[in-house]
Amino acid sequence: MKTVYIALGSNLGDRLGNLLQARERMQSPHLKLKQASSVYETGPRGLLEQPWFLNQVVEAETTLYPRQLLARLLKIEQGMGRQRLIPNGPRVIDLDILLFGNTVIHLPGLEVPHPRMAERRFVLEPLSELAPALRHPRTGRSVPEMLAETMDQPVRRLTS
Ligand code: ADP
Ligand code: MG
Repeated sequence: MKTVYIALGSNLGDRLGNLLQARERMQSPHLKLKQASSVYETGPRGLLEQPWFLNQVVEAETTLYPRQLLARLLKIEQGMGRQRLIPNGPRVIDLDILLFGNTVIHLPGLEVPHPRMAERRFVLEPLSELAPALRHPRTGRSVPEMLAETMDQPVRRLTS
């Protein structure tokens, strides 16, 4: 059994509904959602001409192997109608594995910890709610340390 952190993002359609639906679809005996962060609204990065995102992080316990978990997440993205038209483009739902216990993975289609998590406030802010004491398995840096360097990126926490 491993503790995993998964980032959810949506910037098309009913964004809040999409996050909820993704959480419902993820929940299973092999992937038990334990905690969900607040939802944050963030401006797009990279491709700027697109709607703002809602982002959230969940903590789960899983008996799946990393490859199996990724396959599950990609299937949920597809099932919710995600189309990959433009890289970094708008999406109904994006599900990324941030951390898989302390495991470090370098495979062609799977990199864990997620390669860009340390530079994204919209990931670190919700992650710090769930696991402030957690450290990056490769660099050893804490979530607050990484977060401090991303404070120039505007994010807004939705009141729930
Ligand atoms: P992004 O999330 O970077 O905007 P995509 O969601 O389109 O882009 O993902 C592209 C590919 O990234 C996926 O097909 C998957 O194989 C790969 N990938 C590599 N590492 C991870 C990870 N930690 N979590 C999710 N996908 C990953
Ligand atoms: Mg993704």
